[in-house]
Amino acid sequence: MPALFDLEEDKLRSEIIRRGARMVLVQLPEGLKPKTPHIASIIEGSGALAIISADPCYGACDLALYEAEFISADIIVHYGHAETAFFTCKSGLPEIPIIYIEARANVPIREAVEDALRQLEPWRRIGLTTTVQHIQSIKEAEEILREAGKEVYIGRSLGLKYPGQVLGCNYRNAKSIRSLVDAFLFIGGGRFHALGLFLATKKPTVAADPFEGRAYRVDGEAEKIIHRRWMDISEASKANVWGIILGLKTGQFNMEAALKIKNDIEQLGKKAVLLAMREVTPEALLEFPEIEAYVNTACPRISLYDSRKFPKPVLTIRETNVAIGKASWNEILESGLI
Ligand code: SF4
Repeated sequence: MPALFDLEEDKLRSEIIRRGARMVLVQLPEGLKPKTPHIASIIEGSGALAIISADPCYGACDLALYEAEFISADIIVHYGHAETAFFTCKSGLPEIPIIYIEARANVPIREAVEDALRQLEPWRRIGLTTTVQHIQSIKEAEEILREAGKEVYIGRSLGLKYPGQVLGCNYRNAKSIRSLVDAFLFIGGGRFHALGLFLATKKPTVAADPFEGRAYRVDGEAEKIIHRRWMDISEASKANVWGIILGLKTGQFNMEAALKIKNDIEQLGKKAVLLAMREVTPEALLEFPEIEAYVNTACPRISLYDSRKFPKPVLTIRETNVAIGKASWNEILESGLI
């Protein structure tokens, strides 16, 4: 039986040998960390010392370039995410070669997509999206939908590697076809990307989970998130002391946006303090009892999906603009929360 995720072991060996690497820093998403001893053996069997980053890694926004430079690694092997142009185009980053291994899922999609057809019954024009783990199956999904009489659209925009691909912070492919479709189908495990698809497009959204072989609607749960976001915005609008979170992960760092929102808040006679952090956790924010609300300029999933874990509102920049009266909630909802 093939492994659940393709670790591309031959590519890993040949890249290490071809580049003559002596020391390799490996980044793995949480689901692949149990494979650590196996991956380390492949690397060391190819003649390089393997150092596995035990830090969390949620996306290609988090390239351990500074860590690799600090420990003098020759290359980074980054598992589980595709190369993403807008995360690497920043100037001044250490120039460490990166081998991306996307860890495609070896799982059939037919059962889940056929189940999705039942949920998609009211709609004819369907937008199709997925994550990089299932991008090799997008054509098969398209055929299943077409055979069932659907008109299928797959968006293509700049910055993402594959047509139809989505990230938790980037739904441009979906937004590019939003006006053409009646509903979206997302193929992939977990609820997070499908919820984001609804928040970004406000179109009926069905998730087809190939790991579970079933499909389900996410609209109701996404509407609850929208309601919670509005409650947090309302609470934050009363805050006099704000913390501006500056994400230190390479692809999340956005000093320009942080300085702009700091200035906008201060223009209202309120206080705003910049806080630099790698991991945005409730425990870390508890250390700042005088801060009444936060602007999160790092990963939007923290604000959208984890808000209940935090003791104070943690708003995205766009939500903050609503809280400080620079944008209307309806306008933000119309253009998409992400
Ligand atoms: S959603 Fe967050 S963790 Fe995922 S790629 Fe975007 S910024 Fe990174």
